[in-house]
Amino acid sequence: MRLDPLGCRLPSSVRQVGGEVEKVSDTAPNTVVIGKYRLDPVAEFEGPRMQPPAMFTKTDPQHLARLLERTPAGSYDKAANQLFTSVHTWLVRDDAGMVLLVDTCFGNLKNRLPTHPFFHMQKNDWLSKLAALGVQPEDVTHVINTHLHLDHVGWNTKLVDGVWKPTFHRARHIMPRLEVDLVKAGKWMRHEVWHEVNLRSIADSVVPVIDAGLADFVDPEFQVASDIRLLPCYGHSPGMLLVEILRRIERCNCRRRSAASPVAGAQSQREYRVLRKA
Ligand SMILES: [Zn+2]
Repeated sequence: MRLDPLGCRLPSSVRQVGGEVEKVSDTAPNTVVIGKYRLDPVAEFEGPRMQPPAMFTKTDPQHLARLLERTPAGSYDKAANQLFTSVHTWLVRDDAGMVLLVDTCFGNLKNRLPTHPFFHMQKNDWLSKLAALGVQPEDVTHVINTHLHLDHVGWNTKLVDGVWKPTFHRARHIMPRLEVDLVKAGKWMRHEVWHEVNLRSIADSVVPVIDAGLADFVDPEFQVASDIRLLPCYGHSPGMLLVEILRRIERCNCRRRSAASPVAGAQSQREYRVLRKA
């Protein structure tokens, strides 16, 4: 096994070049390094999924048609009128042992009603993909559910002897307090079409984690780690949080030594990048 500058296990597609990480093949083409964090997407589904109006329900059709003309290749199949989508987790690791998952897709064997076949009773290899990146469920230290829709909480639990148990039993599960409060108040997902399936996902993918004492309910500005915080991103769901990852660049300003200033000064410059989940 090789280790990258962060101490993470590197797939064969990534090698170290002058202290930076560079992609050299397509084995892990989406690996990203932001500051001290390495990010890998773990896809549960990738492919053509839906017609554009189903995704952009409130967009003017003519405006949407103009936008689709400019859509990059691989994002939209014009002949089939299908948008390509990806349902994935971001695996975020640092060199201090943090193993963080941002959202957990829709999971296996979840009864979401045959009316929702995309999510219903799936049997996929998401855990194997996670293992291929060197991570077992017991290694995970943090899970962030950016919001409580069914395709963002699914792998929180897995079926063990007929009972839904936390998959990541050593991890803190970070959830938006606002959405948990809506669930408790019976005001979660009142949209008819999705009401039943989302109630099912709350019951089998969120409640078991809370009952196990593994959940933390947080508000915007919550600091997950030294350079990771959660920001409000309401709209797609009532309390959705956005994950902000800070890249901190340390820059040394070396000054001429003098009796008055014998020590070189240092200052840090901050640069922000944002990882958005929707
Ligand atoms: Zn959602």
